[in-house]
Amino acid sequence: MRIGHGFDSHEFRAGISLKIGGITLAHDQGLGGHSDGDVLLHAITDALLGAIAAPDIGALFPPADAKWKGADSAVFLREALKRVRDAGYGVANIDASLILAAPKIGPHAGAIRARVAELLGVAGDCVGLKAKTPEGLSLENTAVAHVVALLEKRPAKKLTADRARAKSKKKKSKKR
Ligand SMILES: [Zn+2]
Repeated sequence: MRIGHGFDSHEFRAGISLKIGGITLAHDQGLGGHSDGDVLLHAITDALLGAIAAPDIGALFPPADAKWKGADSAVFLREALKRVRDAGYGVANIDASLILAAPKIGPHAGAIRARVAELLGVAGDCVGLKAKTPEGLSLENTAVAHVVALLEKRPAKKLTADRARAKSKKKKSKKR
């Protein structure tokens, strides 16, 4: 088994849409950054890359490269997942904590977990998500994400089956 940790933060800015965990949330501000600013997908990507001791998201997708301007962060996550699979591992589960003052994540947590599970090719109950407000942190204008990911070694056959299943699977994930 392997464990990885990812951390990311982005500042809120007016005039852009807010994307968290691959979902667009209704809010008067979005997260600034070179890509779409998806703080959660970035932290997950780094957790996966860290677990296999691969270069981090900034090294693989340099912010200085115009190619990644406004990019869908799912692209980064898919590349990290490919590297995880190429290294002979599969995702067992991830657990994430989001820290932000607004908007409230609770009403969207089910949709975010389902989208992240879909991107990772795992069951919905393999994606943990908690949200907290930044009490005492003076980070009212910032969104922070912490993620831990557990990987398990997969036999080659199971990996191929997982990939096929991930491709064909478009089922709705269960709501809690
Ligand atoms: Zn980021």
